[in-house]
Amino acid sequence: MATSLFSDIEYLKGVGKARGEKYRKLGITSPYELIYHIPRNYLDFRAYVPILQAETGSYNVLKLTVTGKNFPQKIKGGLIICNASATDGISQINITFFNNVYAFNALKTGETYYMYGKVSGNIIRRDISSPVYIKADESVLIQPIYKLTQGLSANMIRINMRQALEIMKIYPFETLPSDIMQKYQLMPLTDALKNIHFPLSNINAENARRRLAFDELLKLQLGMLMLKVKQKKSTSFCMDKNIDINDFLNALPFRLTDGQTAAVYEIIADLCKKTPMNRLLQGDVGSGKTAVAAAVCCFAVKNGFQAAVMTPTEILAMQHYKTFTQFLEPLGIKTELLTGSSTSKKRKQIIQELTDGKINVLIGTHAIIQNDVEYKSLALVITDEQHRFGVSQRAALAGKGDCPHRLVMSATPIPRTLALNIYGDLDISSIRQLPNGRSPVKTYAVTGKKREGAFGFVRARLDEGRQAYIVCPMIEDSESDLFAVKTYAESAKKSFLKGYTVALLHGKMKSSEKDSVMERFSNGEIQVLICTTVVEVGVDVPNAAVMIIENAERFGLSQLHQLRGRVGRGKYESSCILITDSKNNECIQRMKIISSTTDGFKIAEEDLKLRGPGDFFGNAQHGLPPLKIADAVCSMELSGMARECAEILLADDPALDKPEHHALKMDTLKLFNKDITG
Ligand code: ADP
Ligand code: MG
Repeated sequence: MATSLFSDIEYLKGVGKARGEKYRKLGITSPYELIYHIPRNYLDFRAYVPILQAETGSYNVLKLTVTGKNFPQKIKGGLIICNASATDGISQINITFFNNVYAFNALKTGETYYMYGKVSGNIIRRDISSPVYIKADESVLIQPIYKLTQGLSANMIRINMRQALEIMKIYPFETLPSDIMQKYQLMPLTDALKNIHFPLSNINAENARRRLAFDELLKLQLGMLMLKVKQKKSTSFCMDKNIDINDFLNALPFRLTDGQTAAVYEIIADLCKKTPMNRLLQGDVGSGKTAVAAAVCCFAVKNGFQAAVMTPTEILAMQHYKTFTQFLEPLGIKTELLTGSSTSKKRKQIIQELTDGKINVLIGTHAIIQNDVEYKSLALVITDEQHRFGVSQRAALAGKGDCPHRLVMSATPIPRTLALNIYGDLDISSIRQLPNGRSPVKTYAVTGKKREGAFGFVRARLDEGRQAYIVCPMIEDSESDLFAVKTYAESAKKSFLKGYTVALLHGKMKSSEKDSVMERFSNGEIQVLICTTVVEVGVDVPNAAVMIIENAERFGLSQLHQLRGRVGRGKYESSCILITDSKNNECIQRMKIISSTTDGFKIAEEDLKLRGPGDFFGNAQHGLPPLKIADAVCSMELSGMARECAEILLADDPALDKPEHHALKMDTLKLFNKDITG
């Protein structure tokens, strides 16, 4: 039987057991998967330079004729060194290979090659070591560069790639209908796969990449839309729009802003539908998302259902618990708190009361959706600071119980470019205004020389009755020169904060300790909190009006914005002082942006530009399926087209069951690990 694209990779000529294993290490088990091993970059042999113009110490392409070869030499340690001499017609150069007799033997004296390698030496004697080379009469001068693994050379991969592409020629395939390809001006798939490896020109390579990136974004959008359909199945929690929450609104200590009100009614409208809500509420730090959440929980409870609010940290759970109790208890609504550190007795009791329906609203960390936590009628699940929960968690929640309504809240506004790819399965509400009477936080970036001045400023605000945060990047002293909260607090208590009440807060403290510190900071007993970024998410103490951030260079833009959002939450004018001695350009750029605006949407866009999507959420927490070719934001235009295309395809064939959509469906399911079905 002839080798097909789906044969084992070992069926390719020259790939035995050993090389096959190497390929498997790269996740490649068949010629088909090999073809999808997309080059990271290209080596363009057309861009060669004369030997004398080659930059020493770096990689260059040279066009060289081999003039002589020496016999390979074995030196100590078994290393084999091979030398050859060559010329570009003007000057001479020495070629050295280490332990690569194979590459050396393939060179022929008198023959001309393009060579790429590190050039060293001086005017008198130059060397190029371990070059990659091709014959000068080779027709393909742009060579692919692949991710390699030990023992699998670029050359081997290229040779096997050509074989795999030959097989593809016999069995060509296509995943897109031709009208779609025409509409979006996409290259046929097999052409794209051939050209992505061996392009004839830069434009050629770009078009190939565009087609393959489109494929990925299309699968992403198909998956998002199918997930949306899965989530929209039907719910038994259809609520009554005639029930009002006026008593809640009247009892609030403030009037909701227009933005909050609009969000509340968008959500209530969703809750009254027969399909479960699936909505993202995004609002800048301090825009008052908690009150919106409490309002809609109240609505659900008045409809006779239960609600759950899930937070990423215990501090935040604790704080929400207090706020919700304050707002809801007077209305006869019972709220409880369940976290990882609840005692087992308490936990038992809570589970009992949830089943009985005595508890109306449960607040906590992800402990609240564990399997043994059963509700009488859970109709609404709210997750706060959603960017920490990815697509697969959303899909898992969607599969739970009787399809409760879901609201996710995020204080990191998602740039539009990214929203489509990350939250393509959600509807979005945005609160774009802050409550009245807030003046924007004044932000200053200064060097360490101004530290004393900053301390004086903090003391003056403390003396007026305000409270302060001081943020450091580390918990304990380390070899780096970064500030650590423990030593910082010790020395502050003895020096510039002598006579003030100071406390520590960091992630390694027991949660009971953290709670008690937060409690005392919240009620004003503690004046200054010296903390790590544990205060980043959601902490709300309106009397805190000044923040110092040490080693500000250590934090990304969105993180600085989140941290700064801990002040300016009440009626007092607030300030944030960023201290950094870094002269790094990108850092200076960040300091400029953060001091010039408090608009979270703008900051998010800038952050994305500076860092790229991978780092935007820190450690790839965006929860997207891994994309190989498309950068999730590489092109808003391409993402938009993929979205439109996915809508067209699904309108015609909602489950992609038609035979011509089979391949697309399989690929989509694979990308999402099947999360989107069922
Ligand atoms: P976030 O959107 O960052 O979660 P919070 O819900 O914590 O913001 O609200 C920030 C602060 O603003 C809280 O102290 C809250 O009581 C207050 N707040 C919320 N809504 C209003 C409003 N409409 N008017 C005045 N203060 C409000
Ligand atoms: Mg919040």
